[in-house]
Amino acid sequence: MAKRSIHWFRKGLRIHDNPSLIAACENAVDVKPIFILDPWFSENGNVGINRWRFLLQTLLDLDANLKKINSRLFVIKGKPQEVLIDLFKKWNITTLTYELDTEPYAKLRDADVDDLARECGVEVIRCVSHTLYDTKRIVDKNGGSAPLTYKRLQTVVSMLGLPPKPVAEPSKCPTAVSMNHDQHYGVPDLKSLHKNPNECGPCLFPGGETEALSRLDRMMKKTNWVCTFEKPKTEPNSLQPSTTVLSPYLKFGCLSARTMYHRLHEIYKQNKKHTAPPVSLEGQLLWREFFYTVGSVTPNFDQMVDNPICIQIPWDTNVEFLAAWKQGRTGYPFIDAIMTQLREEGWIHHLARHAVACFLTRGDLYISWEEGKKVFEEYLLDADWSLNAANWMWLSASSFFYQYFRVYSPIAFGKKTDKDGSYIRKYLPVLKNMPTQYIYEPWTAPLKVQEKAGCIIGKDYPKPIVEHDKIRPINIQRMAQAYKNRPDKSCSGETKGKGQKRKPELKTEERNSKKAKTTSKTNKKITDFMKEGK
Ligand code: FAD
Repeated sequence: MAKRSIHWFRKGLRIHDNPSLIAACENAVDVKPIFILDPWFSENGNVGINRWRFLLQTLLDLDANLKKINSRLFVIKGKPQEVLIDLFKKWNITTLTYELDTEPYAKLRDADVDDLARECGVEVIRCVSHTLYDTKRIVDKNGGSAPLTYKRLQTVVSMLGLPPKPVAEPSKCPTAVSMNHDQHYGVPDLKSLHKNPNECGPCLFPGGETEALSRLDRMMKKTNWVCTFEKPKTEPNSLQPSTTVLSPYLKFGCLSARTMYHRLHEIYKQNKKHTAPPVSLEGQLLWREFFYTVGSVTPNFDQMVDNPICIQIPWDTNVEFLAAWKQGRTGYPFIDAIMTQLREEGWIHHLARHAVACFLTRGDLYISWEEGKKVFEEYLLDADWSLNAANWMWLSASSFFYQYFRVYSPIAFGKKTDKDGSYIRKYLPVLKNMPTQYIYEPWTAPLKVQEKAGCIIGKDYPKPIVEHDKIRPINIQRMAQAYKNRPDKSCSGETKGKGQKRKPELKTEERNSKKAKTTSKTNKKITDFMKEGK
C-alpha cells in the first residue's frame, strides 16, 4: 500500500531539524502537514494576545516554508483525537508522525491518539527534537530518576556525548492540495479566533522559523559576544535586550535547540577562549535541558501540593496585592516597569524575571509562586510549561535553590545597571520627569519635587504597597519556619549558589537572617546572588 502520511505539527513549528517531518516524507506519495487548533488551550490554557499573534505569525511562516518544498500547511480546529480519526479515513492515511512532547497534557493526548491510530491501522512515528537529548535517556543514565542538580545533569550528559546533530530539511514533501485550500485550511487571523488585534502590544519579536533562523544568525555573527557571554553579567533593564531573545522561538520550536547548540559548538571550536556552563550560552541551553528533564518525570511539577521536589510553604492569599503586582501598581518603579514590559511586549530579561518573582513570593508579597507562574503563562511569548514552573520554584526557594534569605531589593537591584532609571522612564512614562535621585523611590521625593515632575505619589503613581525593609525580615522568618516544618529536611536536590559551600541547614538560619538585613544595601551581595549563573 502506498505511504500516505500526516505530519502533526504541535511544537517543532519548523522544517529545519525536524526528524519526524522527514520520516513523514520518506517514500510517501502524499504528506499532509497539519496543525490542530485544540480548544483545550483556549479553555484551560492561559494564552495572552501577544502569544496568539506570535503563534499565528509562526503558522503563516511555516506555510510559506512548506510551499517552498511543494507542500502546504493544513490548519484544522477541533479536539485532536476527533480531528485525526476523521482525517485518517478522509485521506486514507497509513502513517502519522509527530515530535515527542513531555508535558502532561500532551502525554495523555498522544497516548489516546496512538491508541486510535493503532485501531485504524495507522503506523505512528515519534521523534525527539524539542530538547538536545531524549530526556528519557538522561533519566535512564541517571539510574531511573531525574538529575536534581545542574552539576549532576552536566555529568550525565557528558556521558551521553554531544547532542545529535540537526538533520537536513526535507528536499520535497509531496502534498496534494485543493484549489480552495486557504478557505478550508488556511491560517486564521486573530479576529476569526475572536481575539482583538487592537489589544496587541508592539511586535518586537515576530513569530516564525524564518525570523528565528535569521535572529540566530545575527546573534552567532557576534563571535566575541558569544565567546564572552556570561549570563549574570547581562542586564535586566537595558533598553535593548542583553541576551539572545531566542526563547519564544525555542518554546514553539521555530528554532531547534540542537541547531543552536551546534552553531555554538562550531564557534567554540574556532575560538578556544570562551565562557563555559553554567554561565555561557551553551550553559543556558543546558538549564533548559535540566528543567525539561526534571519536568518530564516529576509528578505535579507545575504545582506545590503533591509535588515531591517542592517545599510546602503556607503562602498568603491577597487578591489586591496580586492584582497590583500583575498590573504594575506596586509602587516600586523597578518592579512595575518590568511588569509593564512583560504585559506590553511579552518578553523580559531573566534577571528582571528574578526580581519580580522574588518580590511576589518570598521577598515581599508572600504570594504563591503558582499565581506568578499563571501571570507569566498569560503574558510571556516564551511561556513554557517546564521552564516556567521550574524557575518559579527556584525563585521562590521552593525547589532547586534554597537560600531564601537572599532577597532582591526592588530598589538597589535595578540601580546597579541603570542608575538614571531610563528603563523606568520608558515603561512608566508617568515618572519620566522624576529626578534621578528619586526615580527608584519616588515616594521619598518632597512634594514640591513631585509637583514639578508632574507626578504626585498616591495620586498619579501609587505609594509602595508594602515596606520592603520591614516585610523582608518577617518573610525570611516565615520561610525559615516553613523550612523547619519540612517532614524530610534533607531535600535531595538541594543546591547552593555557585561558589557556596554547603552549610548545615536550619541552624544557620538565624545568622543568615541577620546577614540578610544588610543585603539590600550591598551591591556585592546582589552580585553574589547572581553568580549562580542561571
Ligand atoms: P538567553 O540567555 O539568550 O538563553 C538562551 C536560551 O537558553 C533561552 O532562550 C532559553 O531557552 C534557555 N534558557 C536561558 N535561561 C534559562 C533558564 N533559567 N531556564 C531554562 N532555560 C533557560 N524561560 C522560558 O523559555 N519560558 C518560560 O516560561 C520561563 N519562565 C521563567 C520564569 C521565571 C520566574 C524565571 C526566573 C525564568 C523563566 N525563564 C523562562 C527562563 C529565562 O528567564 C528565559 O529563558 C530567558 O530569559 C529567555 O531569554 P533569552 O532567550 O534571551 O535567553
